[in-house]
Amino acid sequence: MKNKPAFKAYLSAYHNEVTGSRLLVVVEFPNGTKRRILIDCGYFQEIKYRHLNYVDDLNPESIDAMIITHNHIDHTGLIPKFVRYGYHNKIYMTKITQELCPAFLYDSCEQQEENADDMRERYPDEADKFKPLYYAEDVEKAVDLFEGVSYRKTLEIFPGIKMTYFENGHILGAGMVLLQCHYDGMQDINFFFTGDYRRKNCFYEVPSLPKWLRKLPIIMVHESTYGSTNSNEIKKCFRDNVLTAFAKKQDILIGAFAQGRMQEMLYFFKCLEEEGLLPEDYVICVDGPLGIKTTHKYQSILSWYNPSKADFLPKCVEFVTPKDRSHLPFDGRPKIVITTSGMLSNGPAHYYVPIYLAMKNAMIHLAGYAAEETLARKLLECKRDETIRIGGEVIEKKCIVKTTREWSSHITADDGIEFINEFENIIFLAINHGEEVSRNTFAKRAKEETSVREVGLIDRDEMYVFYQNATKGVCYNDMLIKRLPAKLNSSYEMSSKQKDLEKRRKRQEEKAEKKKNRNAAKRARKSQKKLKSGM
Ligand SMILES: [Zn+2]
Ligand SMILES: [Zn+2]
Repeated sequence: MKNKPAFKAYLSAYHNEVTGSRLLVVVEFPNGTKRRILIDCGYFQEIKYRHLNYVDDLNPESIDAMIITHNHIDHTGLIPKFVRYGYHNKIYMTKITQELCPAFLYDSCEQQEENADDMRERYPDEADKFKPLYYAEDVEKAVDLFEGVSYRKTLEIFPGIKMTYFENGHILGAGMVLLQCHYDGMQDINFFFTGDYRRKNCFYEVPSLPKWLRKLPIIMVHESTYGSTNSNEIKKCFRDNVLTAFAKKQDILIGAFAQGRMQEMLYFFKCLEEEGLLPEDYVICVDGPLGIKTTHKYQSILSWYNPSKADFLPKCVEFVTPKDRSHLPFDGRPKIVITTSGMLSNGPAHYYVPIYLAMKNAMIHLAGYAAEETLARKLLECKRDETIRIGGEVIEKKCIVKTTREWSSHITADDGIEFINEFENIIFLAINHGEEVSRNTFAKRAKEETSVREVGLIDRDEMYVFYQNATKGVCYNDMLIKRLPAKLNSSYEMSSKQKDLEKRRKRQEEKAEKKKNRNAAKRARKSQKKLKSGM
């Protein structure tokens, strides 16, 4: 008897670690129909992978649909690039993400020129390859393709493929995605993408998943961002640090992401205010156009999504315009400045950090991950009274710098394992989104501490195929899972020659800087002499 054609689904990742999230699911029906669905389309933020933004590893015209899990640029930032190069189908996201996302893509568009300059500097031999990845007109076209979907409303996106969003505490609007692929006479192939899942969010309840879903045979794609960190390892010190700063009448500067952290911070201070712990003379200044815009969006979204949290601003809040920024730190009022960016490398943080860094009676508080080469990381690594170079300036670190991971919007390892254990029938667990150590540690724990049948890591080197053959019956235990090589990496690896060039360039810059400082000192001495001699 001739075998019936198989019902197959391929799963591949176009990223390696935490950012640039992009997964491709290809469903191959026994009748020959193929559907290619992209889950997220993110921008690579890690310096070591940034070149991958420029690699054309996937033909945008070949994609039938995009499904976005949440509004973080490392999950959305390449959408306009795909649209620019031929993607023209629907882009699904939750209704809330649809409200929030456009402003972030327009903002990213503004940064494109800067990013391209940076790449040209890093890879001088291939400088002409680096142009902005997209422009405002591409964002506009992309936004037209957005399709907002309500939570828990199942949508048939193609004949035989259904999609449902479930609530996710990661950030407002985030969703976990269930993709159910069906073919008559065969068992469904179900994917469940957790989309940077977190259990809680201070702005809304995250209801538990329905029983039927927890019983469903699924292929789960789960993140391991904090795959090697447990909840008890995260020290909760933010509140104490802030209260200590109040007691010393210190100014506080906080770096926050435009969505999520900034609004959560504001809500935190509102709660302090209600407890009577926010001193009355303090003012809270919020700076960063995208952050301010998003804060107002939060107010309007929450007014229908969860009205009890819509009024989350403390009474003493002030939104800062670029015009007011220059005198703000010196106006004599004790204050908390909450500004973008979270890692302090962009946005108004560039203006505030040098000022507060040099102030003895101030505290700079970081509230998130500080990636390599960011200003946040530099501040943490520098000791008190040592100097830091910011832009062209050399500044002595006089203030206190603190950090905490308690605000993280990612799930810890123990919470992740607990979450996985809520499911009864995970056929395959694909570990995604984490540095190598985290992925390996989390995979090992999942194998030992859950009833998951098989665990695999996904990155640019490997893909998986799940298939069932009709003659073999329809039982999931018979579903075949194969690991295939997927060699997607190409070009833009820095050659040793380029590395040498980079080093030389840095040395030259430092030399020039020193010379400039010496000359400035000389000039200062000269003018002092002139003053003394009365000339
Ligand atoms: Zn995220
Ligand atoms: Zn992510």
